[in-house]
Parts: sequence; C-alpha cells; structure tokens
Amino acid sequence: MTPFAYAKARDVRDALALHTAHPGARFIAGGTNLLDLMKENLTRPSTLIDISNLPLTDVEAEADGGLRIGALVSNADLAYHPLIERRYPLLAQAILAGASPQLRNMASTGGNLLQRTRCYYFYDAGVPCNKRRPGSGCPAKDGLNRIHAILGASDQCIAVHPSDMCVALAALEAKVQVAGNRGERCIDFADFHRLPGDRPDLDNTLADDELITAVTLPARGFAEHFAYLKVRDRASYAFALVSVAAALDLDVDGRILEARIALGGVAHKPWRDPEAERSLRGATCDEEAFGRAAEALLRGARGHAHNHFKIELARRAIVRALSQAAAAEGNV
Ligand SMILES: Cc1cc2nc3c(=O)[nH]c(=O)nc-3n(C[C@H](O)[C@H](O)[C@H](O)COP(=O)(O)OP(=O)(O)OC[C@H]3O[C@@H](n4cnc5c(N)ncnc54)[C@H](O)[C@@H]3O)c2cc1C
Repeated sequence: MTPFAYAKARDVRDALALHTAHPGARFIAGGTNLLDLMKENLTRPSTLIDISNLPLTDVEAEADGGLRIGALVSNADLAYHPLIERRYPLLAQAILAGASPQLRNMASTGGNLLQRTRCYYFYDAGVPCNKRRPGSGCPAKDGLNRIHAILGASDQCIAVHPSDMCVALAALEAKVQVAGNRGERCIDFADFHRLPGDRPDLDNTLADDELITAVTLPARGFAEHFAYLKVRDRASYAFALVSVAAALDLDVDGRILEARIALGGVAHKPWRDPEAERSLRGATCDEEAFGRAAEALLRGARGHAHNHFKIELARRAIVRALSQAAAAEGNV
C-alpha cells in the first residue's frame, strides 16, 4: 500500500474544504471497498478524508411522503429501519441479500452506490484494464467472462455494477443528493450510474469533488407487491450473477396498474427499460405477460464466451420475480 495522509472531517463543509486542500484525496466512509482497492494498489489516494463523523446518519420522513436516508446510514441500520421494513421492504430485501452481517454493519449508503466492479481483471494490477488505465485493453472480452455484462457493454469494457441495494433503488426511482464546492444538486437514480461507452473508468456522474449527502425515496414504496430475487453461485456472501428487483401496483381485480423491474449483475449500471414496464400496464399477472416483459427487457442482450447462460437465466429470473411480487410472497 502506498503511504497516505489522513484527516477527519467535522461536517460537510469541512469535508469539501479538506478535499480541495488535498489534491488526490478520497473520502472514506465504511472503508469496505476503498481499503481493498488501496491494499491492491489499484487506487492510491494522497489523503483519506474520513467522513464517518458527519451528521448524515438519519432516516427521516419528508413532508412529501418520501424518505431521506443519510449517506452514512449503515446498510444494516437501513435494512432493519422500521420505516424501510414497513414502507420499502423491497429495499430491505435487496440490502440483506448482499455481503455479510459484518460488512453490512460497516458499509454506508453512499459507499454502496460507489463500490467498484468485481471484474477479476479490474482487481488484478498485473493485467491491462480500460477501467483502471483507459486505453490499456480489456482482457475480459476474450478471457474469463462468466460474471460479465450481457447488456449495455462497450468494446472497451464488459464489467458489471455489483450492488444489490442499487437495483432496488433504481426500481424505486430514488434520487441522489450531493454537495460540492459549486453547491448542491439532486441526481435521478437512472442518471447516477453510467454505461461504459468509451470512458469505462467513469462509473457514475458524480464529480470528483462532490460528496453524497443523502438518498431520497419517493412516497411510493410498492410495499404490497415486491420481490428481490438474487441468483448467485453460493447462497450467501456472493455477488449476483443476475438479480431482479420487481415491484407491482395492482388494482382490485389483480390487473397491473404499474410495474417496475430493475436488473442487477447484467450491466455497468442497474438495468431498466421503461417500455418493458409499460408493456405490463393493464395486463393480468400471468407467465405470458411476464415473459413478454422479460423479452422486452433483454432485447439486445449479448453474451460472451462464458456467460451466454445469463440471458436465459435473466429471462427466467424476471418471470419468477414478477410472479413472486404478484403473489405477495415477500410479505411474510
Ligand atoms: C467480501 C465482500 C462481499 C460483498 N458482497 C456484496 C454483495 O453481495 N452485494 C453488495 O451490494 N455489496 C457487496 N459488497 C460491497 C459492500 O456493500 C460495499 O463495499 C460497501 O457498500 C461500500 O460502502 P463503504 O461505506 O464501506 O464504502 P467505502 O469503501 O468507504 O467507499 C467506497 C467508495 O465510495 C466513496 N465514498 C464513500 N462515501 C461517500 C460519500 N458519502 N460521498 C462521496 N464518496 C463517498 C469512497 O471515496 C470510495 O471511492 C461486498 C463487499 C465485500 C468486501
């Protein structure tokens, strides 16, 4: 590990000032991803600005019926928060499908959004990687690509975004609140993470000097009909090969008023397709309708040597998650 300086920020303004004063600095929250990257010499911050003391640890109901989640709320506290369990159980389910209890105690809401891909080649400093060093190449394309993208990839990068929490946040249409030296702004979740294109080194649209202060949720939590289905190699402590966050709003006759479907493990960002969701409006909850939505969502999916199986896996996972959501199987 390369030597680095350390500073503890008192509040948001102090954190931003410290960041400006120390070129090459990085914020550290729970450290569960950043420290691993530093130990492998994949990232070498000049200074770690510890934000763990910032007053961003509350989950608060908002006047518009939504919820504001401070960026430093731990994944564990968030998943078991009474307002999340009652109003946004899809989010609780997705968080609890990730990592381990110990990691969820440390991991923060903001850090979870910014965790980096689990592509083997990205974590191996001995091989080229366009995400680490733009223009150096992508060994995953012709290498071991079992866990890689089937949607939205580019010639430069086929890595996937690893978070579970973000898949639920995408389906719930969360917003990311950020503060920077130029002021505060709010980013729609769909615009927060990005596809690799010719800049796979950029995972998201956060500026280098910006701090995530909160994630906000709209009032609608789909607490009646939801499912988070994660398909992985082990039953726990493994990243998703494919995951599906499904949320349905049904009328009294069981017809779909609104559907949300987000996929994890398949692209450089949580994957949604408004057309697939629209296709379910007015439909009855059956395998045929869910299968049609799955086909629409996976339109354009393309496998690589070792991950063609993900296309069929995703199709089946979408149908199953929607069926579970319709049957309210998660509401136990
Ligand atoms: C073994 C293992 C298994 C895991 N399994 C899963 C899994 O199955 N599913 C899953 O979703 N996740 C999984 N994770 C990832 C884990 O959830 C993330 O590492 C964690 O959420 C990151 O949060 P953190 O607070 O520790 O971030 P840190 O490591 O502190 O920071 C991560 C990045 O975010 C930046 N950052 C942090 N907070 C802010 C902020 N407020 N504003 C601006 N920048 C910020 C840091 O500078 C850094 O770049 C796993 C991790 C490990 C180590």
